[in-house]
Amino acid sequence: MPTWCERCGKGAEPPAPLDSGRIYRARQALARKAATRLHQRLSEQPDSLAVIPSRRVAVAFSVAVLLAAPLVVLALVWLILQLGFYLKILFLAVLAGIVLLIVPRPNRLPPEATVLAPAEAPALRDFVSQVAGAMGVRPPDAIAVDIDHNMSVVELGYGRRTGLVIGLPLWTVLSWPERTATLAHEMGHLRGRDTRDGRLVFWARRLLWTLVELLWPDALRPTRNAFSDAGGAIAAVLQHIIVAPFLALAMTLERLDAVQSQHAEYLADRRAAQVAGSAAMTSALAGLLPPQRGVTTMERAIRQREDPWRALEQAPKPTDRELRRRRAVCASGEHQLGDSHPPTSMRIDLLERHPVGGGLHPPSQTLRRIEEEMVAVRGPLTQRLRDTVLMRLG
Ligand SMILES: [Zn+2]
Repeated sequence: MPTWCERCGKGAEPPAPLDSGRIYRARQALARKAATRLHQRLSEQPDSLAVIPSRRVAVAFSVAVLLAAPLVVLALVWLILQLGFYLKILFLAVLAGIVLLIVPRPNRLPPEATVLAPAEAPALRDFVSQVAGAMGVRPPDAIAVDIDHNMSVVELGYGRRTGLVIGLPLWTVLSWPERTATLAHEMGHLRGRDTRDGRLVFWARRLLWTLVELLWPDALRPTRNAFSDAGGAIAAVLQHIIVAPFLALAMTLERLDAVQSQHAEYLADRRAAQVAGSAAMTSALAGLLPPQRGVTTMERAIRQREDPWRALEQAPKPTDRELRRRRAVCASGEHQLGDSHPPTSMRIDLLERHPVGGGLHPPSQTLRRIEEEMVAVRGPLTQRLRDTVLMRLG
């Protein structure tokens, strides 16, 4: 464990920010500001957690963007049809390419996820149904496993079905109360219909950011001096003028989404705590504070050609002092871009401020059966896990 001083914070400094461009930094600042305000409000008024006031605005804004897009495309088609033959063909082809890039597509499970057949993991399926029942939602239609250090729920197709993706490394490193809490958190997202509303916002965000990137390719890249010569300066000014309305719309939606998606995370945490207990949820979150629990141990085992799953099972828990250091780093560090979650330290803090009871304790026989099922599905994933980790480590 690294050494650090709890008084002055030496040894718990956040990593230096990356030079990722002005827009990246603006989005990070916006997410951090939303996180801080939201945390303050929910700390003072815990009862306001149950309602996400910004959700409706974010969804309405997204729907407006998604409805306006086809109208704009039709208007452009009409304009293009007024041109000469060759220009018409050229511009229609360009427009078709852009439409293909931004059109909403049906949602699928990640291609690398392995769907578990009902007969393959009946005890796991029962357990997930039990947690979903305690949360008051229909269990996911499909359960899949992959090699991510994560767990998530997704809507499938255009939203009639749902899927749960269990990252086997994360599952393996967690204790049973933490697994229950993490599952309950995901079911909390289904209860809050976060996946359904989040998809509309996701489509609108993707549409707007794709347009920004098409009109101003350097916008999302590390800072470069666009005004270094006269020609470049004129081009940069023109690009800024053309992209400004789309950038303004994208940043507005980003701000609305930062508030509603972070609020949804706090609400899913609270609901999970009501099912699994605050202690289990807090402990599961503590394992996510970077560096995520078990990852280094797993990587070392893979380098030494040992069993990564065993390494994850035996990964030591950080000491309380080390957890305090990780929380301090997380609290003062950058907000991760694209991460709709509040900083983990704030999530833990809110759970600790307003603890709730709860605890789902399936019989040990059931847990043993699930354990056997999950060990059985490791086989096909092991080589992929090794290859991915070795490639990441170079
Ligand atoms: Zn979540």
